[in-house]
Amino acid sequence: MSDNNPHTGDTPAVRIVLVAPQHPGNIGAAARAMKAMGLADMALVTPDRFPHADATARAAGADDVLAAARVVDDLDAALTDCTLVIGTSARSRRLPWPVVDAREAARRTIGNAGPAAIVFGRERSGLTNEELDRCHVHLQIPCNPDFASLNLAAAVQLVCYELRMAAAHEPEPAPEALPLATAGELEGLYDHLEAVARAGDFLDPDEPRHMMRRFRRLLGRRQLEAAELRLLRGLLRALDPRRRAADTGSSDV
Ligand code: SAH
Repeated sequence: MSDNNPHTGDTPAVRIVLVAPQHPGNIGAAARAMKAMGLADMALVTPDRFPHADATARAAGADDVLAAARVVDDLDAALTDCTLVIGTSARSRRLPWPVVDAREAARRTIGNAGPAAIVFGRERSGLTNEELDRCHVHLQIPCNPDFASLNLAAAVQLVCYELRMAAAHEPEPAPEALPLATAGELEGLYDHLEAVARAGDFLDPDEPRHMMRRFRRLLGRRQLEAAELRLLRGLLRALDPRRRAADTGSSDV
């Protein structure tokens, strides 16, 4: 996959993102789980306490993964270059999003053209709906319906194992595949879409989230190619009522 994602062993580079982990011990245990499966690209979004002695102790020798972990201020910063983002959730949300199990998620991740990330939530409350909105697919590990919540590091372990197994069986993505839009480019598109929809009074300014979630679902269902995204942005620019108003204004002079 991407050249700048470090990895060792047979598992291709996949970023493991932990959002606001509360217990440093879980960060260490996740690093250990990753290293054992040949993964090394960890991003931490506003961890409560890191670096921390408990993280180092639970890493049990995976200190290199901890040392290389990127600490960022928000989820978008951890995902900018990714063309596939998978969000994990212990419970079914009411979000009408595609849901897959860990095996299917691993298969898609390994077959993806470009960097991919798998996002894990807080120990206490998981990922917020806004964070899950940023993911193309949701991953739910099938569990006892009465007790569906795994320990964070245990969930990371299980997903990393499936990644390793999938890597052994899935073909590499075709090199001639057209470049896909990255998460950063998609966020730019959604901001642009929201601004134009607002300017055109298409979006209810008091309740913009509902409509924007529907757009995210529509455009995220099929991974857009980078060129398709540019096409949509060109159309938005051409249709932007603010630009039209400016053009009309200047022709009056
Ligand atoms: N009460 C929280 C549980 C969080 S468990 C909730 O309902 O979401 C901490 C994290 O571990 C979750 O955010 C998710 O990333 C992962 N996790 C735990 N159990 C999981 C499961 N069954 N499927 C997918 N991810 C799971």
